[in-house]
Amino acid sequence: MTERTSGAAAVRMEKVGKWFGDFHALKGIDLEVANGERIVICGPSGSGKSTLIRTLNQLEPVQEGRIFVDGMELTGGDRNVDAIRREVGMVFQSFNLFPHMTVLENCMIAPRKVKKIDKAEAEKTARHFLERVRIPEQADKYPAQLSGGQQQRVAIARALCMNPKLMLFDEPTSALDPEMVKEVLDTMIDLAQEGMTMLCVTHEMSFARSVADRIIFMDRGEIVEVAPPDRFFDAPEHERTRNFLGQIS
Ligand code: ADP
Ligand code: MG
Repeated sequence: MTERTSGAAAVRMEKVGKWFGDFHALKGIDLEVANGERIVICGPSGSGKSTLIRTLNQLEPVQEGRIFVDGMELTGGDRNVDAIRREVGMVFQSFNLFPHMTVLENCMIAPRKVKKIDKAEAEKTARHFLERVRIPEQADKYPAQLSGGQQQRVAIARALCMNPKLMLFDEPTSALDPEMVKEVLDTMIDLAQEGMTMLCVTHEMSFARSVADRIIFMDRGEIVEVAPPDRFFDAPEHERTRNFLGQIS
């Protein structure tokens, strides 16, 4: 088993480097995220935001440096892929629900298969989290019968059913019609207020300002700037951050 130290940071990345062939996608990434911390990651398209958070869910291997999640090393030879993946929930831009399963079944499948939880218990947990994302009445519908915002809230509930220590969001509202963005952001705000450790890639800057403890700005595979929201928006240190903020506001 991977060694685990108590009081470990939720995430620690040390000098992480990642290449796609010759393309250097992540460069010298150093990042430590405390338990309960809310991080927003922003930056231009292609800057490595998705790649960074995908490394934390072991969807992308890295070639350099070390990564720890909740004190467990992802980059060592003795890593326990399943154990780590169980601790990390991920919500994507496209909702990735199973179309042939009901909402309830979507929320029950991973706890049943991966955690071997019995059916009654899995259903109870699923209903609990559907309640928390405020769509308990949709439990028996199929994904195609729901709006985009509702589907994304199911995706969040489904991730929560695994009782993750850490939630990763990759542009969770980018594929939604404008009128549905708020309901998904509200669900994320609820989670943040309950103390969930979160890393969110998003361009929703009002969400970033009100929810994030720290905002990370990435450009060309690097972390250019990390700052609390006030400083990030009102007095960004780097030219590249200022340019980016100028473009999106
Ligand atoms: P972002 O999420 O910030 O838009 P990504 O992390 O998706 O950026 O991508 C960063 C860079 O890595 C981009 O230039 C992208 O084209 C490249 N990239 C991402 N995934 C792959 C892949 N599987 N193979 C090759 N290049 C990739
Ligand atoms: Mg991306």
